[in-house]
Amino acid sequence: MVQTMGMLDNLKDAVKLARTVGNADLYQKLNAVQTDFLELSEKARELQEENDQLREELRQKDRMDELLAKRTHRNNAYWIDDEGPYCTCCWDAKGQIVRMIAHAHAGGAECPACNTKITYDRKAAERYSQRVYDGLKGQARGQRLDW
Ligand SMILES: [Zn+2]
Repeated sequence: MVQTMGMLDNLKDAVKLARTVGNADLYQKLNAVQTDFLELSEKARELQEENDQLREELRQKDRMDELLAKRTHRNNAYWIDDEGPYCTCCWDAKGQIVRMIAHAHAGGAECPACNTKITYDRKAAERYSQRVYDGLKGQARGQRLDW
């Protein structure tokens, strides 16, 4: 950002000087320049804020492009390299990257934001289902549930 305080101080001094020497035309011109300068300073501040915001948006877009280049879709979820699973629903619908909570013993995962459930390891899911089924069968026969 341009250092405006020094320039404004010089302008104020020039306005005072013009008033001191009694040059009304010079005083009015310098006063008008001072007013224009303040407006331009405000505009420069607004443009600086807009520029900062656009830089941040560009940085986020570059980061998203980087993630999209690494993103793959498999087993009903997104993966970035080998990290994941990430919720496809949240990413596609809301642009949010939400890591799912894995339930490795059951071969699945759940999104903490939208509660979408996936199965990413079908064999682990089948083993888990079988254990649950066997446990319920045993419980029905009066056996203690043993996981
Ligand atoms: Zn989700």
